[in-house]
Amino acid sequence: MRLILFIGPPGSGKGTQAQCLAQELGYHHLVMGDLLRQEIQAQTPLGQKIQPLLEAGLLVPDELVIDLVAHHLQNGADYILDGFPRTVPQAQALDRLLNEKGASLQTVIFLDVPEEELMGRLLKRSELEGRTDDNPETIQRRLVEYRQKTQPLLDFYEARGLLRRISGVGSIPQITERIKKAMEMC
Ligand code: ADP
Repeated sequence: MRLILFIGPPGSGKGTQAQCLAQELGYHHLVMGDLLRQEIQAQTPLGQKIQPLLEAGLLVPDELVIDLVAHHLQNGADYILDGFPRTVPQAQALDRLLNEKGASLQTVIFLDVPEEELMGRLLKRSELEGRTDDNPETIQRRLVEYRQKTQPLLDFYEARGLLRRISGVGSIPQITERIKKAMEMC
């Protein structure tokens, strides 16, 4: 079982890049935001609980997302995790999970995009896709959540030599190339 993580602020393009790389490597692309939105759409008890949080741009409690990931990781398969972990406790839970399975992390890709650019990208996406959490107020809240809770993860993985910082500014193929180059160094 091999695992690659994608970390980046909302609007960094990690979904697009993670999907490209997953296809190329033949890994499963597990998207935490999609798993949560599916729960909401199916109106499961979990979905009903988390809907107000997603709509407000707040992170879902760690224990809920940890359970969801544990449920979706199959032994023996390879994964790109997109949007998980987003907090240090989530990263520690992932370590425990991988220990149990005798698996370890291959690399962590961090897509770096300046905050001034993120707001513009997300507002444009709201026009195209109509995601209810892509409005100015909610975007601000998601950026604050990212800064406070997800950014500390960068030090967590850097200390372990797993982090690859990639500039997420440029064309989609340019960024894909940068990621592939960084992967060759693993
Ligand atoms: P974005 O990266 O643009 O914010 P996502 O689709 O990855 O979009 O996430 C949408 C929302 O789903 C987040 O704002 C948050 O409420 C919730 N979410 C996704 N991943 C996690 C996670 N690992 N922990 C807690 N909440 C999460």
